[in-house]
Parts: sequence; structure tokens; C-alpha cells
Amino acid sequence: MRVRIDEIPESGRTLRFHWDEDRLRQFVPTGDPFNLKLLRPVNVVLNLDRRPDLVRITGTIEGALKVSCHRCLGRFQLPLDEPVDIYLVAGERAPKAEEKELAPDELTYEFFDGEVIEVDQLVAEQIFLALPVKVLCREDCRGICPGCGANLNEETCRCKAGGTQSPFAKLKLIKTGLGESTE
Ligand SMILES: [Zn+2]
Ligand SMILES: [Zn+2]
Repeated sequence: MRVRIDEIPESGRTLRFHWDEDRLRQFVPTGDPFNLKLLRPVNVVLNLDRRPDLVRITGTIEGALKVSCHRCLGRFQLPLDEPVDIYLVAGERAPKAEEKELAPDELTYEFFDGEVIEVDQLVAEQIFLALPVKVLCREDCRGICPGCGANLNEETCRCKAGGTQSPFAKLKLIKTGLGESTE
């Protein structure tokens, strides 16, 4: 979706739409490190407020994702509930130094050509910004044993029980105490 600046009335304009998985797919980085799936369409509400030198975009992006844990590769649900508050500034006019200093972290400046807002691009950026660099099914996810491949959240490591795939991995596990754990 694209919105021309001159299509935004003085009183502002609200966009409400859903993103299905096909739409998301178009923006997922190649090799998708998250193995993203949508559990339901993403709800997007964006209020476009035209100001003299910029467009302020507020709203919410809300949905439920299914992703793979970076440590154990287990699939789990990740809620998406992103407030949006972006100042879209025409490209040739970068924010002044003092504005930058005043801007707290949550104040986001983005640049555009001053004529057309690439709404889909913007939504995709917000979704991927919302994802942590390393998604974990839980903070203390114990991951996969590099020796036997056991998911240590669910199974006991089999290396000790005679598995000889990797003596090095076994050594490492004993060292860190993980191999002794019976939890
Ligand atoms: Zn995990
Ligand atoms: Zn193991």
C-alpha cells in the first residue's frame, strides 16, 4: 500500500488493514532467521497526521507470530503488539541537531521522498524492529546438546549414556555441569 501525501486531508487519515502471511512473506529477509508464521492476520491501525514538514504516524501493529527459538529450534508463539509513533521527514530535510538531542529513544525519525508513503515497507520495518535479534522460547532455554542433539528442555542428554558422537561435546557438558543435571 502506498499513500500520497496530497491524499491526506487536514484532519488526518486513518488506515486500517490486515496483513496476511503472503504479504508478510514479501518482506521477510532471505533465509528468514525466525522461520516466521502468522497465527492470524496482523491488525494494523495507522493514523497519518500531516504537519508542515513531516507526517506523524501513530497507531498499533498487533498480531500473533509463530517463530523458532534460536537456541533449541522449538516453535513457539510470540505476541506482536507494537505501538507505532514515527515522524516521517522528507528526505532532503534531515532533523536539526537540537531536535535530535531532544529526541528520546522512542521518537523515531524516518525519511521519505516527501510525496509518497510506502506504508507496507513501514509496517514491515516495524514488525522486524519488534523482533529481538535472538528469539528465545524462554529466557533460560537450555538449547540443544551439541553432542547428541537432545532438546535439553524436554529430554536428558544421551551423551553420558554411552553416546560417543562427540567426546569433545561430552567434555564440555561435564565442565559446565549440564551433563550432570537431572532436571
Ligand atoms: Zn528454546
Ligand atoms: Zn548430549
